[in-house]
Amino acid sequence: MALRLFNTYSREVEEFEPRDPSARPIKIYTCGPTVYSRAHIGNFRAYIFEDLLQRHLELRGYKVHRVMNITDVEDKTIRGAREAGVRLQKFTEQFKVAFFEDAHTLRIKRADEYPAATDQRYIDRMIEMISVLISKGLAYQADDKSVYFRINKFPNYGKLAHFDLTQLQSTGRVKHDEYDKEHIGDFALWKAWDEADGDVKWDSPWGPGRPGWHIECSAMSMALLGDQIDVHCGGVDNIFPHHEAEIAQSEGVTGKKFVRYWLHCAHLLVDGQKMAKSLGNFYTVPDVLAKGYTGRELRYALLRVHYRVPLNFTWEGMNEARESLARIDEWLARLRELTEKPNAERPTANGQSPVIEPAFEDALDDDLNISAALGFLFESIRETNRAMDQNEMDAPSARAWLDWWKRINTVLDLEAEAEIVIPPEVTQLADERENARREKNWNRSDELRERIFALGWEVRDTKEGSKLTRRSGST
Ligand SMILES: [Zn+2]
Repeated sequence: MALRLFNTYSREVEEFEPRDPSARPIKIYTCGPTVYSRAHIGNFRAYIFEDLLQRHLELRGYKVHRVMNITDVEDKTIRGAREAGVRLQKFTEQFKVAFFEDAHTLRIKRADEYPAATDQRYIDRMIEMISVLISKGLAYQADDKSVYFRINKFPNYGKLAHFDLTQLQSTGRVKHDEYDKEHIGDFALWKAWDEADGDVKWDSPWGPGRPGWHIECSAMSMALLGDQIDVHCGGVDNIFPHHEAEIAQSEGVTGKKFVRYWLHCAHLLVDGQKMAKSLGNFYTVPDVLAKGYTGRELRYALLRVHYRVPLNFTWEGMNEARESLARIDEWLARLRELTEKPNAERPTANGQSPVIEPAFEDALDDDLNISAALGFLFESIRETNRAMDQNEMDAPSARAWLDWWKRINTVLDLEAEAEIVIPPEVTQLADERENARREKNWNRSDELRERIFALGWEVRDTKEGSKLTRRSGST
């Protein structure tokens, strides 16, 4: 069945058809971090969903060209730099570095490009777009010298958020600094410089100032991906006003449909509550690592729930992630053992390589239904483990499962890191334990098992002798 995705614009699950049916890459724009503090795990949930989308498209044979912007100038970055008493660029740099570090820890595939809003190339592009919008009557400079988008002149404004403009008129409260706008919903394209901005300013036809956040994304998307793109992603909190504004700006300039599929990731909750510093439930990636978890475990915990369902982050959930990964690791170790046996190439009498049904990919085709995809993985693990317990699996079958895993792991990226090297100390204890077992000295054997366990390893007794595996969570 074809790939289907839920489009926020239509509020419907739609069949995915690339804009350009020839072999050109799928163009994806994903709203990236605002670098005024370290991104939290809720932000990373959205980036992991985008990673899943890209990897699944690639599994399905598409080429992907993905851009993720870095918002390094807007109100919060300017305020942060001012409070820290450093220049904007110095202030944001540390959080850019931290973002890439955390993304790497979570095994998020790198985007093809990471444009930064303060790059003069894109500032020029923003100014160019604002000029076009003014010339078309879609924008105006107000008495406060800032330039605003005139939402009343763009009939589709509110379509993405399914938002009624008249509502905005009746309930909107006018903030002190917004008296000069024609309409409460008009948003800033260019913010005139004021003292609080310090040395953060660029020249423009409307005087010194800086771009509004929304125009940054429209300009960077257009500069790097062209007038029209296939997919635009973000968190649900980006829908209004950010993405609504992006549509108005981009389509206002080009007169063409900007985005084909709008995809949005639901919130992350912590213990059922919204994450907030004041509630003490606000976590970054290093906060989670400091509790003894690995990036791989956090990746699993953030990945395993369907992207349109709010994800409730809990420490029990992290432990479940650890157990699930241990199940995968043990399963892979068993399959590998089987393929490494002498005469591994020879199938047993009834042995035939299994035909593994494409249930994993099919589940992801269904609007990235990761829970169903993982459900199939663990069902398969249960069944193949049972077959191995009963000695009913031969090496070619084991190899077929390992090949299958290799394929689905291009999407999951959940395998334990590198080859596991068993420390000599552990090997020696394991040998001593073998001797103790041969002498039927069970107390000694148990004692040695515990010492091995304390070093982070587990002994499993098989027909071929004892095997060592890393203890769950210690990889
Ligand atoms: Zn954006």
